[in-house]
Amino acid sequence: MMKIYAYEVRKDEIEYFKKLQDEFQIEIVLNNSILTVNEIIKIDDCLGITTLGQSHINDELLRALNDRNIHYLSTRTIGYNHVDLDSAKKYNIHICRADYAPNGVADYTVMLMLLVLRNYKPALWRGQVNDFSLDGLRGKELRNLCVGIIGTGRIGATVIKNLSGFGCKILAYDPYQNKSILDLVTYTDIEAIYKECDIISLHTPLTKDNYHMINEESINKMKDGVILINCARGELMNINDLIDGIESRKIGGLGLDTIENEEVIIHLDRRTDIFNNRDIAYLKQFPNVVYSQHMAFYTDEAVYSMVRCGIEGILEMAKTNTYRTKIG
Ligand code: NAD
Repeated sequence: MMKIYAYEVRKDEIEYFKKLQDEFQIEIVLNNSILTVNEIIKIDDCLGITTLGQSHINDELLRALNDRNIHYLSTRTIGYNHVDLDSAKKYNIHICRADYAPNGVADYTVMLMLLVLRNYKPALWRGQVNDFSLDGLRGKELRNLCVGIIGTGRIGATVIKNLSGFGCKILAYDPYQNKSILDLVTYTDIEAIYKECDIISLHTPLTKDNYHMINEESINKMKDGVILINCARGELMNINDLIDGIESRKIGGLGLDTIENEEVIIHLDRRTDIFNNRDIAYLKQFPNVVYSQHMAFYTDEAVYSMVRCGIEGILEMAKTNTYRTKIG
């Protein structure tokens, strides 16, 4: 029976691996550790290996795979900056990544907008201690606001489609216009987004050019009380300038699913640690700052799709040399 080794397997992925094992009539060996050269030495003959994003798929590891005659590897992540594609080419190792629908992140984005707009965080706090008062919780209605979307690729465009039912004005900025949303949105330049929008939501990849694009200078161009939403990458925003903006009340609220230097906390239980990232600890405690642990993607549908790409990708690449998410 054909065998695939899965590494970095999370508990919530196991049921999907089992389902795919039956569907494809293969054996999938599950392992929750990171893939290392030592692991490769230990494993039996197999068709391929799938990992998440913590394994460093570097030259040494790819050479070890080649030495064991393993030529198919999948990363069950969308991003693949942990994979050395040049070395993969050198050792003739075929690589694919995962994909999933943009809806999970897009729905979550609108949820963050509404949570911040309706002051739900302090309302939730009060409920825990049977304080059912209204003082300070009055919100705003989306239909009267102007929302700016920066980046109108798969996720940004889906956010715009979601928002179209709320009746708000929607402005967008992206160097490339997305034809599928032209009737829902007015494209404009970044300066107009900063100047005119009540809510601004980021949906761009992180690049050298847009690192810290939300900083003191850009925040100063925004409306007083602006609400900023980030379900893209933490480093798009300068955390110290966000803190200053909240303290000065220039920023009216933040909905952040991602934050600068989040690697030290995301998806970890740090309840009993001495948590010493002062910026994150300070920013997330404000009543008008909703922060979550990079979980906008995390739905049944997305996790299934990531696991499916991990297994199906290896089988397809072995059979046809291609797969829709093949990257190398
Ligand atoms: P995509 O590639 O489909 O779209 C990105 C868009 O951003 C493109 O249209 C591109 O032209 C545009 N863009 C690039 N640089 C820009 C800039 N400086 N200003 C304005 N527009 C710019 O990507 P996507 O699938 O929509 O994902 C967007 C981002 O969301 C990802 O890169 C990732 O960082 C983030 N993401 C977060 C989560 C989460 O769980 N929080 C999950 C998936 C993706």
